[in-house]
Amino acid sequence: MINAYIAVGSNLGDPVAQAKQAIESLKDLPRSRVIQASSLYSSTPMGPQNQPDYINAVVKIETELQPLELLDNTQKIENEQGRVRKEERWGPRTLDLDIILYGDETIDQPRLVVPHYGMREREFVLYPLLEIEPNLILPDGSALSQLIESVDRNGLQVWDRN
Ligand code: ATP
Ligand code: MG
Ligand code: MG
Repeated sequence: MINAYIAVGSNLGDPVAQAKQAIESLKDLPRSRVIQASSLYSSTPMGPQNQPDYINAVVKIETELQPLELLDNTQKIENEQGRVRKEERWGPRTLDLDIILYGDETIDQPRLVVPHYGMREREFVLYPLLEIEPNLILPDGSALSQLIESVDRNGLQVWDRN
């Protein structure tokens, strides 16, 4: 069993409901179990600003799925919740599920880069992650609690406390 962390994000089609539905769907992942979900947070968009605010969360799971199997399953959930892939980078979406960490593994494949390349800068990943795993050490040995000191909350707020 490996501990993995999934970042959830939504800013279309009732984002709070989308995020909650995604957490429910993660509970149905094969050969896996949800250990903990963070509170829901609201955040301002990254990239294009002409889009609604986001609802974000981080979910800790325990899984026997291989990394690409996990990605297949999270992409299936994205698709089931109406994710449409558009040209615009970081454009609005009903659901984004990013694999933030997969155990201590470092993965660099065309379809999957872990730790997620943006996690170190993204307040909407780091603060929910800190809520559920305050003592987390990243695969490169850095402490989450240390890393987060240089990352502004940038308007991030708890939306719905867990
Ligand atoms: P960002 O990755 O900057 O957060 P995004 O989440 O909007 O942007 P997507 O359109 O969801 O990007 O995904 C684009 C591709 O990223 C996916 O098809 C997937 O193969 C790849 N990818 C690479 N690493 C990961 C990861 N750790 N988690 C999820 N997808 C990943
Ligand atoms: Mg993303
Ligand atoms: Mg994504």
